[in-house]
Amino acid sequence: MAARKAAVRKPRVKKCSDCKGTGETTETVRVGSARKARETTDRQAALCLTCFGSGDAPTT
Ligand SMILES: [Zn+2]
Repeated sequence: MAARKAAVRKPRVKKCSDCKGTGETTETVRVGSARKARETTDRQAALCLTCFGSGDAPTT
């Protein structure tokens, strides 16, 4: 494929629906055992497992 910088276009990629294309999800931090689990106000940024942080929707 000939390299043409100016003509290069990114293929249209769908954004991941889970992370809205950011590649990150925010998870509510839970403390305690499963039974006693309660949500805290702390939220943790985590790598989106759907797109593995790429922000692109999986094609498969
Ligand atoms: Zn994602």
